[in-house]
Amino acid sequence: MKLFTHHEFDHHEQVVFCHDQASGLKAIIAIHNTHRGPALGGCRMYPYANEEAALIDVLRLSKGMTYKSAIANLPLGGGKSVIIGNPGSDKTPALMRAMGEAVDRLGGRYIVAEDSGTSVADMLLMGEMTKHVSGIAEKCDAVGNCRSGDPSPMTARGTFVGIQAAVKHRLGRTDLDGVRVAIQGIGNVGHHLAKQLHDAGAKIWVADLNQAAVTRMVEELGVTAVANEAIYDQEVDVFAPCALGAIINDQTIPRLRATIVAGAANNQLAEKRHGEALAAKGILYAPDYVINAGGVIDVCYERSNVQQAQIIQQVDAIGETLQEIFMRAEAQHKPTYELADQLAEERFAS
Ligand code: NAD
Repeated sequence: MKLFTHHEFDHHEQVVFCHDQASGLKAIIAIHNTHRGPALGGCRMYPYANEEAALIDVLRLSKGMTYKSAIANLPLGGGKSVIIGNPGSDKTPALMRAMGEAVDRLGGRYIVAEDSGTSVADMLLMGEMTKHVSGIAEKCDAVGNCRSGDPSPMTARGTFVGIQAAVKHRLGRTDLDGVRVAIQGIGNVGHHLAKQLHDAGAKIWVADLNQAAVTRMVEELGVTAVANEAIYDQEVDVFAPCALGAIINDQTIPRLRATIVAGAANNQLAEKRHGEALAAKGILYAPDYVINAGGVIDVCYERSNVQQAQIIQQVDAIGETLQEIFMRAEAQHKPTYELADQLAEERFAS
């Protein structure tokens, strides 16, 4: 297996293969860039078909974290880790502790957080072996409302301000009253987003594989439920993907009627060329790692004594960053994802 000549290798500073015989741990930690600070990124547990697939994932995801943290102006670099295994059947406390030890050996260059296949409980187990773990602290606001390390409410808030920025740029409107939004996926992020949009007067359409969640949203907010496949065809202003990646592709772009794509899902473009296809169709795309950075901002500051109000201010600044990207993209006649990368690279260049 290649590394330095691997097609996903992109000047990564450090790639560590971790093994623990007693617990069966097989993991890879990739640190892409630490110019802005220690590399923070989630630990994904997945039954990868082979080691090559795990390496590809960790190299891509760690690079993505460098861009996300830089564009959000965080004092963090980019890293990620993957555990090769089935989270349903292979996960044990010993495995998580062994992963914590592997993280600890990097001395703080990498800070681990939860990702798909891992949970806050797993982070607590890793936290027994290392202090370089994030996303576990209980957070309380000024009036004593507390919540766990779950970053989803902040991700939703960032997505909401991102939609506001996109609506202002594309539709020339400073409010969301009557703006039509189709949300794909009303899980952790999507349901918080739906509530904020509803409070701002938006008209909402939702689709989710989980019918109970859909019914709850219909009863709670009076949103319109649509079949999963039909969500792309809705006559709306904004399509907000909050479920899966790669949903902007050759099949879905011709169906979209929205003039804005702005949602929290990671890796929305199946391929970069689909960012160009959106622009060619006159659809304004809010680059995913810019608009969904609210969670990483939240997780970043949980380890410091930065106040909640300051965190909110930084999450709300996602709107300004997007405005800058939209304006640069328009001026340079380039797709927004390209300008986002450019701005992030300016921010993490040494
Ligand atoms: P989640 O698992 O809580 O919610 C996803 C929802 O999408 C689920 O309710 C699921 O049933 C639904 N879904 C899955 N496939 C679907 C389909 N084909 N059609 C319709 N609905 C479908 O996840 P989440 O934490 O809300 O995250 C949503 C997206 O945002 C993911 O792509 C995630 O990577 C990204 N994201 C989340 C955060 C965060 O703070 N949670 C931060 C950054 C990015």
